[in-house]
Amino acid sequence: MTAQSTLVLIKPDAIRRGLIGAAIARLEPLGLEIIGAKVVRVSRDLAAEHYRQLREKPFFEQLLEHLQGTLHDTPYVLAFVLRGEDAIARVRDVTGATHPEQAHPTTIRGSFGRMTASGVMENIIHASADAREAQREIALWFKPEELLG
Ligand code: UDP
Ligand code: MG
Repeated sequence: MTAQSTLVLIKPDAIRRGLIGAAIARLEPLGLEIIGAKVVRVSRDLAAEHYRQLREKPFFEQLLEHLQGTLHDTPYVLAFVLRGEDAIARVRDVTGATHPEQAHPTTIRGSFGRMTASGVMENIIHASADAREAQREIALWFKPEELLG
C-alpha cells in the first residue's frame, strides 16, 4: 500500500465549541504527516463545490451555511491534508459515521457530534471518503505550492 493523502476539515461547529484540540488529539496518534494546513474563509461557491454531490438534498442550503460558519457565527474552517499509509480509511475510521448517533462512541463524531434544530448533522469534522474524493477535494482546497512535496 502506498502513501495516500486525505483532506480533513475542522468545521465551524467544532471551532465554536472549542473542539479543535479534541479533534486533532484523536487524529494525531495515527502518525500521519501534515503536508498542508490553513485557515479558510469559506465562500458559498467553495462550499457548494465541496458538497456538489449533495446538491439535490433538501438540507443542501443548511449544509452550505454550516460549512460557511453562518450557523455558528464562526466564518472559517481549518483545513488539513494528512498523508501516510492507508490515510483515507484510517482517518475515516477515527472520524466515525456521518450521523452522530450512529457513530461509534469512541470516534470523533460519536464523541462530539450532535443533531440540532438546524437540520444539519453537526459532526464537527469532514474527512475524504475515498481516493477519488480525496484527490478532488485536495485540489479544491489547496494550491500545489501550499502542500509539502
Ligand atoms: N449531512 C446531513 N444530513 C444527512 C446527510 C449529511 O446534515 O442526512 C451533512 C453532514 O454534516 C455530513 C455532510 O452533510 O457530514 C456530508 O454528507 P456525507 O454523506 O458526504 O457524509 P460524510 O462524508 O461527511 O460522512
Ligand atoms: Mg462525504
